[in-house]
Order: sequence, then structure tokens, then C-alpha cells
Amino acid sequence: MASDRSNDALFARATRVIPGGVNSPVRAFGSVGGTPYFVARAQGAYVWDVEGTRYLDLVQSYGAIIHGHAHPVIVEAIQKAAVDGTSYGAPTEAEVVIAEAISAAVPSVEMVRLVASGTEATMSAVRVARGYTGRPTVVKFAGNYHGHGDLLLAEAGSGLAALGLPGSAGVTAAAVADTRVVSYNQVPELDTDTACVIVEPVAANMGLVPAQAGFLQALRTECDRVGALLIFDEVITGFRVARGGAQHTAGVTPDLTTFGKVIGGGLNIGAYGGRADVMHQVAPLGPVYQAGTLSGNPLATAAGLATLGMLDDAAYELLRTRAERLAGHLRAAFADAGIAAIVPRVDSLVGLFFGDEAPTDYPSAQRTDSVRYAEFFHQMLSRGVALAPGPYEVMFPGLAHSDDDIDEVGAIAHASAAAMDPSSGPGHL
Ligand SMILES: *Cc1c(COP(=O)(O)O)cnc(C)c1O
Repeated sequence: MASDRSNDALFARATRVIPGGVNSPVRAFGSVGGTPYFVARAQGAYVWDVEGTRYLDLVQSYGAIIHGHAHPVIVEAIQKAAVDGTSYGAPTEAEVVIAEAISAAVPSVEMVRLVASGTEATMSAVRVARGYTGRPTVVKFAGNYHGHGDLLLAEAGSGLAALGLPGSAGVTAAAVADTRVVSYNQVPELDTDTACVIVEPVAANMGLVPAQAGFLQALRTECDRVGALLIFDEVITGFRVARGGAQHTAGVTPDLTTFGKVIGGGLNIGAYGGRADVMHQVAPLGPVYQAGTLSGNPLATAAGLATLGMLDDAAYELLRTRAERLAGHLRAAFADAGIAAIVPRVDSLVGLFFGDEAPTDYPSAQRTDSVRYAEFFHQMLSRGVALAPGPYEVMFPGLAHSDDDIDEVGAIAHASAAAMDPSSGPGHL
């Protein structure tokens, strides 16, 4: 019998009052099978479920956590902020300091507006681009995920990919009439109706698909040719692949950038910013309206500032070496087991495709063997390593994952891959 606080008992209760038992579809175990573990607490690289089982965690809140769970400096910053009040409806010094910190790290961001999620950031950036240009069309790439706003949900990756959905019910044809979906890593020919092109500069919601050499620069050139704005969605890559984000590593300057995840240190935050003349469109300066009761929330800005304050050059060097160590272990594990798998790495991000060709766009990413992913996921979970319960998410090795932790993941990956049947599924060698 499951006790009241078992994963199964909680999931049974959850499914009665929460759709699918989860507050975000990517947390469901639908595509891997089984019941989600319910987290009771987390520390550093580890999470513990309500039954006391410990997992070495590579989910890390889908990239919101970079210093590990419950980092003492971040916890203290949140505690200190909380005693001074949790929301005011008036500006604060911390909002100014974090805006300055973002702008200093990412020079294309001359001005920035804080919001409460990555979804809000992308929705707002697109609205600003339309307001600034006076044009309707928004170009997005198939398999790129920009949150769950109506106009950006078409052929989005992430949970939609895991569920095999092309878009969402409840989004009218009118809402996406001005959204044009094009192929990743191919520069579309734009027209003068185009307000903006929004892109993940490293695609990390259809597994990990790097931008090919020259793609982002050519996109910049094409946007300039027709006067469209280029928006980099750096909700995952911002402050994760480098302090200056993917725009720094790619050497390409967007007009607008969206942030989320890392900049809130695990609290609710998002931000969008860019060229000052474009951001001057935003109310109360300009005619593009965007607002939020909890925008710039004092707990989120405190956690975000503590997070950004600990991200120096050494931190990014460490992140890259750990990510490569992890990728190396995984590649060896699958090679030794005779299982066809590609383990791409971009800076601190690591992906996993079951198949023998590295994907470059959404159709090739969807060729990953999801049955095989489910098998590997459960082999790893049963040995104490938590991956995301869907084949289109990436791994987030962070600063709390020691070399020993990564080596433990490697040993468990070897055992897991060896326990898989190399001849099963379409992805065999
Ligand atoms: C997570 C994500 C979003 C949405 O952020 P939320 O905070 O979940 O609303 C947007 N863009 C990208 C690239 C993301 O990975």
C-alpha cells in the first residue's frame, strides 16, 4: 500500500485536482511512462523525493538553476529580502542594480524591462517589435520554443514536441495569421511586412541543435535588408553559455533579447531588452503597453542578483569543462553498448539524440528514437540519476555538479546503456 506521502499516492491526488497531475506538461511522465517523483527538497546537485530517494539531478529546473539547488548565498539573499516585504507596487534599488548588471554583461541590451516569466518576455518583445516597425509578421523557427503565448506556439518544441502536437487548441487561426514558421539553420527570405525574426541562438527545446556557422550572422544581414528586428530568445542561453549569452559567443548582435531562467536564480522572472530607441516604445515612454503586478519582484531580483554575482569567468570555464566531461562519459557509454546516439555539446549545454545523424532542424530532431529515450531515462532514474522526462529537453550540468558527481553519472550511464537492448528500436546500429 502506498503511504499518504508516496509518489503514487500524491500523483493520484494530483490528477484529481491538477490537469495531468502537473503544473507544466514537461514534468509529466507521459512520453517516458510511469509516475513522476514528487520533490520534497533539494541541495546542490541533488533532489530528494517524498519517499526519501535521492537523485543526482540534471534537470535543474530546466535551466533556472545554475549554482545548484538551495545555494546558501542565494537562500540568504531571498531570506533577507523577504523580511523587508515581498512586493510593493513601487520601484526598488535592486531592480536598477539587476538591470545595470544585465546591460553591462550583454552590451546589446541598452535598456531592459523585467517581467515575471520567459513567456511574458517573448510576448512583450514581439509586441515591441511590431510597435516599433508598424509591421505585422513574426517569423519563428520550427522546433524553437518561446513560451506558451498564442502567436509563438506554432511548431514549438519542448513539451509540444514530446506530445507530438503541431500547436495548441484554443489558439485561433487569427492569432497565428501573422506568424510565419520557417526551418532552423536556413535563412528565410524576408519581406517588408516582417516586424521581427525570433530565434533561439542555440536551439535547446528540440534537444540540442547548434546554430550552424554563419546562420545567425546571415539572419542578421537578412533582417537588416528589410528593416526587420532580430530577437534572440536567450531564456535558456542567457548567462548560461556565457556571461554575454549566445550573442557573445556567436559574435552577432540582436536588436532585442529575452531572458528568464538563470537571471531569477530559481524565482519567477523574465526580462526583455535591447536597443534604447526600440525600448523607448515601451509604456510609459511610448505607445507599446506592457505591465505586471509582480514585475521586478524583490525576492526574484534578490535571488537573481546573488546568482549573477557568482558568475565570473572561472564559473563559465568550469561549466564548460563539466559539460564536456559529461558528454564524453555519455558518448563512451553508448559506444561501448553499441547504441547509436549523438551527444552534442554547446558550451555548458548537453543534448542527447538516439540516432546516428546529428540533427540540424526540427524534422531531423524529431527522428530521435523516443522509445529508446524512455528506456534510457528509466534505466538512469532507477540508478539515481534524474534526466528530464522527455526526449526534447537538454541536460543542465551546473556549478554544483562536482567532477565526482559527473563521473558518477558516467558510471551509471555505462550501466544503463549496457542494460539496454542494442537491437531494439529503430535507432540500433
Ligand atoms: C523556458 C523557455 C521560455 C519560456 O520561459 P517560461 O519562464 O517557462 O515562461 C522561452 N524561451 C525559451 C528559449 C525557453 O527555454
